Amino acid sequence: MSLAFVFSALDRCANQRTDAAWLVAQRAAPDVRVVRFSGDAVRLSGGALVTTAVPVESAAAEVFLGVDGTGAPWFARAEPGADDPAARRADPRELVDLRSLAVSGALPAAELGLLAQARSLLHWHARHAFCAVCGAATAALEGGYRRRCAGCGAEHFPRTDPVAITVVRHEGKLLLGRQRPWPRGMYSALAGFVEPGETLEDAARREVFEEAGVRVGEVRYVGSQPWPFPASLMLGFVGEARSAELAIDAHELEDARWFPAAEVRQMLAHTHPDGLWAAHPIALAHVLVREALGLPAEDAPAAVPPAAAFRVMRQDDNGNRVEIARTNDRAHAEAVATAFEQRGHKQLYWVEPSSAD
Ligand SMILES: [Zn+2]
Repeated sequence: MSLAFVFSALDRCANQRTDAAWLVAQRAAPDVRVVRFSGDAVRLSGGALVTTAVPVESAAAEVFLGVDGTGAPWFARAEPGADDPAARRADPRELVDLRSLAVSGALPAAELGLLAQARSLLHWHARHAFCAVCGAATAALEGGYRRRCAGCGAEHFPRTDPVAITVVRHEGKLLLGRQRPWPRGMYSALAGFVEPGETLEDAARREVFEEAGVRVGEVRYVGSQPWPFPASLMLGFVGEARSAELAIDAHELEDARWFPAAEVRQMLAHTHPDGLWAAHPIALAHVLVREALGLPAEDAPAAVPPAAAFRVMRQDDNGNRVEIARTNDRAHAEAVATAFEQRGHKQLYWVEPSSAD
């Protein structure tokens, strides 16, 4: 199990998808794959993602996701809600929501990535049928990455909502908090939406002060993670506290504490005497906690990796080897590694046989 929603082997073809004729040809391709969403859920059959060909009569309803390593184009569309009894009767195959898919590790990492892309995009379309300027109907263009108003001509673009998420350190301790609805015993990094006109760094400092009353000085960017519930982009930081006294905002947090590093290690390993644990491995917060502790990858909490022939590796800031994905397909593994390099991450990426461990 690893960080969810961060790997996609699709080329989004951002230059080609503006060409309507090119999109029509993609839709008509014999190997086209369409993912059907019911709300936040997709169908699995035999543990694999169910995809279908595009039905001709509803060609306008899809969003274009990209082209995979074999050249097959991928689209997504929204179906009736998961609670719709008629839809359930029509197709009895298992409907699984995106969060459960991420936690279970049932699908390859690259499929989770394209599902995150699809889910955020479909959610935006479902809520932007009408123009925010004049109220007239809007129509999707360019494979779903733009909507234009039929009334005033205003153009609307899909949203991505940045969230600063921070683990703060002070004298060998980490600041972690919990919200009331979270699973029992879970503590995590503090997070909040970035506001207009604010730097990411200031957003990170402001959220920690608002929620826990702690002043933060230096913050260091660690990495990002799409979080498609519905359209967040988590931007992760490790920060250094200037003050230690806590003033918890009871509206935001049920609790926040300074945990000694040894205790956080117990929380990562699920051996804490009070049953406390730190952020799930699918979430960026988990990466931030490990980063703040300077933990090597070998200390990762026990997880059952899928049996696969190849794994994508990276080297972290401390020179440690970290596994980021597994797959049976060497070309796919190479594509994931390349995608990461091209995304501008500083670390080194490579593919190796999974027997190397
Ligand atoms: Zn308008």
